[in-house]
Amino acid sequence: MCGIVGFYGPDDVVHDIVFGLTALQHRGQDAAGIATFNGNFHLHKGNGLINDVFKPKHVKKLKGNIGIGHARYTTQGSNDADLAQPFTTSYPFGLAMVHNGNVINFRDAAKRLHEKYHVLPKTSNDLELIMYTFASELRIKDLDHLSVVDIFDAVETTQELVKGAYATITMIAGHGLLAFNDPLGIRPLVLGRRDTPAGPVYAFASESTCFDYLGFEFIKNVGPGQAVFIDKNFQVHYKNPYNLPKAFCVFEHIYFAREDSTIHGRLVARERVRLGKMLGRKVLEAGLEPDMVIDVPSSGYFAASGLAEAIGVPYRRAMVKNNHMGRSFIVSSQAGREDIVKKKLNPIRAFVEGKKIAVVDDSIVRGTTSRRIVRILREAGAKEVYFISSAPPIVSPCIYGIDMAMSTDLIAANHTDEEICQFIGADRVIYQTLEDLQELFSEERGHGGSCFACFSGKYPTGDVSRYLRHIQEERESHRSKKDREEAKTSVSAKAPAATEH
Ligand code: AMP
Repeated sequence: MCGIVGFYGPDDVVHDIVFGLTALQHRGQDAAGIATFNGNFHLHKGNGLINDVFKPKHVKKLKGNIGIGHARYTTQGSNDADLAQPFTTSYPFGLAMVHNGNVINFRDAAKRLHEKYHVLPKTSNDLELIMYTFASELRIKDLDHLSVVDIFDAVETTQELVKGAYATITMIAGHGLLAFNDPLGIRPLVLGRRDTPAGPVYAFASESTCFDYLGFEFIKNVGPGQAVFIDKNFQVHYKNPYNLPKAFCVFEHIYFAREDSTIHGRLVARERVRLGKMLGRKVLEAGLEPDMVIDVPSSGYFAASGLAEAIGVPYRRAMVKNNHMGRSFIVSSQAGREDIVKKKLNPIRAFVEGKKIAVVDDSIVRGTTSRRIVRILREAGAKEVYFISSAPPIVSPCIYGIDMAMSTDLIAANHTDEEICQFIGADRVIYQTLEDLQELFSEERGHGGSCFACFSGKYPTGDVSRYLRHIQEERESHRSKKDREEAKTSVSAKAPAATEH
């Protein structure tokens, strides 16, 4: 998952880009990059958080009234700084592009790029496939009289050739700012506008929270397969009118997006409260009588408060997070992940001691975090621990840009609820049901279509078995290489036994 922004206005846009990216930092912390244009491209990118990558000396050089930015979360490919976005190409006109998502026909698209357009991608970043396909399609137009229709045509061919999930923003040097989505609208992208005395500033961003900070008015979601182009006279052009997604990623609502973002007309925080309320019925049906509901900070908060309200039990914040640690997912070994969870979360003993605790997290993926949390709560004196997941069991890997491990690592793909409960050491595990989630995000409720693939195994882009095999092989070879390296340096990096509490 990544965060992307693009701005076009009468004055330099770099400050808007930097602030916009910091509001999207939750979407990716591995690397960051910005490209601006003022007759020449200016580009700076590197590994790390926005504030680490962009020092005043870099910001000063990023001149131009048009620019794009990216906060990277690595899904496929390594953490190599060369893979950080934006990517640029000098033809035609000069393009700079960022994307959020994941291309799933990488090999075919790369082969086609080579055979059809005689272009060889330089890196393993899937953005190159989108960018070079678009650039090659644009190049065959009448470049002396490039029209908006030509640009939208090139977008359409790109969408036909490149499969997967992608929200993209592109600067076309001397022409304008373009954004387009994959045909199913899997990843979020919004358009906003701020009026200034010198004229309007237009912005694209992954999430609307950026606009709140920067004083932009929300205009619209960029819909499935839609393209929006802001030309050099600040006219806005739209290709195809739909607004609602055909397969929007429901995990954005559960975990990934920020609570204060509104996605397709629905406030993320409110949806999470609803998810929590729906869990209330299941807790009561299971005959559980917790003394207190707590959350796993921070993404469990709204669901926990919804659950507490639904069952009439007090909610407390009983675990304090050290926000200066990285996410547990960025550590690749099991031992490393467990250690980080322990350092990141400190229980408030006085609140949990002697109590029956219902602890709410957004999801259980590998089970590592939940297992550690249960142990932390027991060590702090909890009498009983019920682990409540506001997401249904995750049984299939996400191939559309959320890093969720392979099927073999997904605890719910291979274990019953009882086995999971035993593994994480809880007294009870309660999951959201897929049916309830589908009902909440059903088309009838005006949400458009949603992607539930990680819970249902039904992928909206069709048969993806070849791609699933490919990522499984790739990860296994990456993992065995890493394991060999770790084995050399550490004797303690063994996964804990399944019965350890
Ligand atoms: P696990 O320890 O593998 O069960 O991970 C579950 C925890 O990771 C939950 O607390 C989630 O908040 C968090 N999480 C879920 N999906 C992701 C993701 N794709 N990237 C990073 N963290 C995640």
